[in-house]
Amino acid sequence: MSNQDYNMRQLLEMGACTNCQVCADVCPAVSASLDGHLSAVYRIKGLKEVLKRRAGFLGRLFRRKPLSQEEWKGFSDTVFRCTLCGNCQEICPVGINLKDLWLSLRQDLVHSDHYPKKINMIRDNLAEDRNVFAEDNEERAEWVEDMPNPPDDGYMREKARVVYFTGCTAAYFPVAQKIPMALAEILDRSNVDFTLLGEDEWCCGFPMLGAGLMDMFEPFRDHNLEALREKGAREVLFACPSCYQMWREFYPPEFRISHATQFITRLIREERVPLRELDMTVTYHDPCDLGRGAREFDAPREVIRSIPGLSFVELPRNRENCQCCGGGGNLEMVDAGLSAQIAGQKIEEILSTGADAVITSCQQCVRTMMTYVRRNKIALEVLDITQLVHRALEK
Ligand code: SF4
Ligand code: SF4
Repeated sequence: MSNQDYNMRQLLEMGACTNCQVCADVCPAVSASLDGHLSAVYRIKGLKEVLKRRAGFLGRLFRRKPLSQEEWKGFSDTVFRCTLCGNCQEICPVGINLKDLWLSLRQDLVHSDHYPKKINMIRDNLAEDRNVFAEDNEERAEWVEDMPNPPDDGYMREKARVVYFTGCTAAYFPVAQKIPMALAEILDRSNVDFTLLGEDEWCCGFPMLGAGLMDMFEPFRDHNLEALREKGAREVLFACPSCYQMWREFYPPEFRISHATQFITRLIREERVPLRELDMTVTYHDPCDLGRGAREFDAPREVIRSIPGLSFVELPRNRENCQCCGGGGNLEMVDAGLSAQIAGQKIEEILSTGADAVITSCQQCVRTMMTYVRRNKIALEVLDITQLVHRALEK
């Protein structure tokens, strides 16, 4: 039991909900499942009830019966069937910080022991292997060996100005490994002084945030900071918007941090990336954590527009209104079917633009959309922006 998982601002904000229900209209989980119980408005009502009926001061004050196991389970199931996309927060007319609230709520449900047991797998994997997929952490940089011309040092340098923090998904998933391969080559061609951390890179903490497991974050943060200091680094580079979000919000401001879209924009402006013409029509999917989360909408569009010959068409819902791909919030682990349904909605919207390819800036978005496209044999290319730039590199 833990009402302490909420701060005073959150408790006050809950009371400000006017029940207008516009948050339900934009929720990808609701539109894909047609289940209104997954909406923000329903969840706020449930949360208020939990706080009132919980044993303790408020429970005694309101003289309510505690929730039954069944009621807890029903509520908890809806809380974890959410992609944490932040669309509800973006539209809420009274400005409730809904995404923060969902994170506190998940933490509360873990502390209260009412959570999907798959969360235990995330906790155990992280505790034992330092990555969320239970892979051998010593193999974090093994993707380098699969590059066409891997460098002798495997991009593992003793000292460097920039550390490229790859993140768990890009390190271990073959589909996503194309992203670090592309980015490493772009950095090489632009003479950037960079290194990887290899086995000294531990999970950034993002899966803990979404799973309500932030109690285990501190040693991971301290370890990563120390690894960076040992490299003498000044800047950390991420292709993963979720790693980038964690460093922005939960690490001390000791290093300059950049997302790949921002870093590549700088390189292009400095004329360090020789780009040839590409004859393609592309659209762009704003990853939730980079777009709504970090408010970075312009850098990826600048990169796309700097490639000669490319034709760019916006999605009907773009920038801050962009719809989630279905890959966020650990949803795939909790309800893979719903995650795929959300991906299906996304792909339909992309196909309506007539683009040959959808470009995004997130390994998880690439993985989710590509899995859907492949399973359903849809003729659409899914590329990370690093792969697009890599394709346009003059040979
Ligand atoms: S964060 Fe996204 S998926 Fe979750 S309730 Fe809000 S709109 Fe729905
Ligand atoms: S949009 Fe905001 S105020 Fe309206 S129902 Fe949703 S949470 Fe409440």
